[in-house]
Amino acid sequence: MDCIFCKIAAHEVSSDIVAEDEAAMVFKDIHPKAETHWLIVPKKHIHSVLSVESDDWPLVTSLIKKAAETARDQNINGYKLVFNVGREGGQMVDHIHLHLLAGKKIELP
Ligand code: 5GP
Ligand code: ZN
Repeated sequence: MDCIFCKIAAHEVSSDIVAEDEAAMVFKDIHPKAETHWLIVPKKHIHSVLSVESDDWPLVTSLIKKAAETARDQNINGYKLVFNVGREGGQMVDHIHLHLLAGKKIELP
């Protein structure tokens, strides 16, 4: 499957990694829409919030925990968390991801 976020999660394509564990990766968005703009991406390929199977909801909700823990580790005390869902919701990459945006001049992604 030709999925850019699968390739980033597998270290086949480079990215600016902020944090990583066995289930997820946090890396900087290539076109940041805020001073801090990270993407929290599961290593497992799931298309979208629109297509989560019941067994995968814990993995999807764990992305919020990963975002919160990584922000705390980096002393970021306030932020926005955004899922774009489906094309009509602004989702351009069909591998589920959570945006974390912080700092001045936040534009919604
Ligand atoms: P979406 O619109 O799907 O919610 O967000 C996708 C995000 O992925 C966009 O903000 C875009 O800038 C980012 N992005 C797309 N391709 C790459 C890439 O190859 N590397 C990184 N670091 N970010 C990417
Ligand atoms: Zn993927």
